[in-house]
Amino acid sequence: MKLVLDAGGTSIRAQIYEHGMCVTTLHAKSREKGLAAYIEEVLATYGAIEVVCISYAGQVREGVILSAPNITVDRHDIKKYFAAKYGIEVLIENDLNCAVLAEAKEHESGDICAVYVGTGLGLGVLSGGNLVRGASSVATELGHIPYKKAPFACGCGRENCIELFASGSALEKWSRYYLLGSCELEALRTSEAAHAKEVYEEFIKALLAALGTVVTLFNPKVLVLGGGVIENNPFLYEIILQNIPLYALGVSLEGLKIVQTTIEDAPLKGAYLLKDTNE
Ligand SMILES: [Zn+2]
Repeated sequence: MKLVLDAGGTSIRAQIYEHGMCVTTLHAKSREKGLAAYIEEVLATYGAIEVVCISYAGQVREGVILSAPNITVDRHDIKKYFAAKYGIEVLIENDLNCAVLAEAKEHESGDICAVYVGTGLGLGVLSGGNLVRGASSVATELGHIPYKKAPFACGCGRENCIELFASGSALEKWSRYYLLGSCELEALRTSEAAHAKEVYEEFIKALLAALGTVVTLFNPKVLVLGGGVIENNPFLYEIILQNIPLYALGVSLEGLKIVQTTIEDAPLKGAYLLKDTNE
């Protein structure tokens, strides 16, 4: 059997597959216990698991968890730990890398970028059929490209990350800073409160700058948009389609397809693909 997990900032979703069919779905809160402890609990209940595939909302390198902003890490060397103690194979990959693998299968493309706007601003890139990982597996950290100075700090410690303008957490931070009450994009757009419209407009500009940068740098055939902020604000898609030519190089836009994700939980689906067999 194969255990597939999506370890996100707030919850862990898990599915158990037998002969390619999902037989059980489980949920847990990310902060309640460590990821390894959670997996051990599942193993104790469902014995015959041979492979564990994990989509992880943090940085990972060759089976080792490097950083995790919101998840309790009880074992950094998670792959080694389960191999030694249980003889189980663990495959773990960054959540946006998993998401783009699932999107690549969906769109049958090896040149595809997935940008997810949720709490953070995340990117996964498949170029020529290969994941773009970088020398130490921390490439494509879109949210942390320099943009302009904000009056508060990013999770990474700097104050000029684009994620401080174009993400769900950015909307929360700016709403708190200007005492706006709501941090919903739609409410900010139509609000009469001082600075509300400005926060909305800054969000749009930063998001377009991020997407234009992705298209210009990676020249994908398909750009997939996902994440809570995109899903909850359908009007964003039209704004992006209309304005992206002002933010991306013309030749990179030729033949580019921009779509919204249709996959319910792409990181979980992508984690399944880390070991694409029917155990
Ligand atoms: Zn940052």
